[in-house]
Amino acid sequence: MPNPLTETEIPHLRAALLGWYDAEHRPLPWRQEVSVYRTVVSEFMAQQTQIDTVLPYFERWMRLFPDFAALADAPEEAVMKQWEGLGYYRRARNLHKLAREVAALPELPTTAAQWQELPGIGPYTAAAIASINFADRTAVIDGNVIRVLSRLTADATLWKSSQQAQKQLGPLAQRLLDPERPGDFNQAMMELGAIRCRKARPDCLLCPIRTWCTGHRQGNPEAYPQVQRKATEKVTIERAWIVSEGKLLLERGAADSVRLADMYELPRLATLPEGFAKGDLHFKQQRGISHQRITEQVYHVKPPEKPTLNGHYVWASPTDLQQLTLSGPHRKWIRQHWSA
Ligand code: SF4
Repeated sequence: MPNPLTETEIPHLRAALLGWYDAEHRPLPWRQEVSVYRTVVSEFMAQQTQIDTVLPYFERWMRLFPDFAALADAPEEAVMKQWEGLGYYRRARNLHKLAREVAALPELPTTAAQWQELPGIGPYTAAAIASINFADRTAVIDGNVIRVLSRLTADATLWKSSQQAQKQLGPLAQRLLDPERPGDFNQAMMELGAIRCRKARPDCLLCPIRTWCTGHRQGNPEAYPQVQRKATEKVTIERAWIVSEGKLLLERGAADSVRLADMYELPRLATLPEGFAKGDLHFKQQRGISHQRITEQVYHVKPPEKPTLNGHYVWASPTDLQQLTLSGPHRKWIRQHWSA
């Protein structure tokens, strides 16, 4: 049975965590200068992405699109181009859509419930935006917070999914939230998960809340949280390398794709129209996405004399490649393997 933490302990835990956060938080650009827009952009960029990767994108984004109105007015291609390399491209489309909706509102929403009505905003992002900017008393709960709470209470539940953990740990997160400084408290929990209560080798000796932490007291914090692992899945994708008159054929991802919305990639062999002839293997790449181990096999392919291609395909010269928005790995592979 997890340790429930008493009402007497909670104010001490809050004070210790906030004192540590005030003294030791990382000086990230969206914390040094806070605005609703900066919080929104940082939260979108940081989903599924390491902070170190986000930093140069964030700075450049702020120079090009300094507020909701500037982003709302920007053409979609320019927005997608600035996201190139960050992955999960639907975030960029949603952020653009969100800016257009927010720019048209008479005033900004102030509660997590209101933010959640807007495109691309889930419960976690809504809580972060509303608590940091409007002191809304809604606790955030993401992977970092799940880890801290599971260890703090030595909760041995075997979670089937992070949604299940979020749902069940939500009431505890809400109980711990400091009502006077909800935004700072939320950021402190996330910061603790990111830099002290790390997945591997948590830094318990320097942790401000170790006094109350059952996982630490038991000597096995890394045993929590317990998550049902998905079996690794091996996937092979065959792609086509088609060069004609100095141009390379590329295919655009569907607009509603989570990872590849409107990004160009080397075409999949399976979806090419009839008449294209598969030749020798040109190169092979391996990568891991989530629980999938993906082998990409790229074949030389000969096009028919007059190929009929729909609007998803484009013939790109080396100059065109600079303008088009490509997924990060494909740009790298093309650079390595095309000597046009
Ligand atoms: S004491 Fe250790 S396990 Fe407990 S919250 Fe702190 S870093 Fe995590």
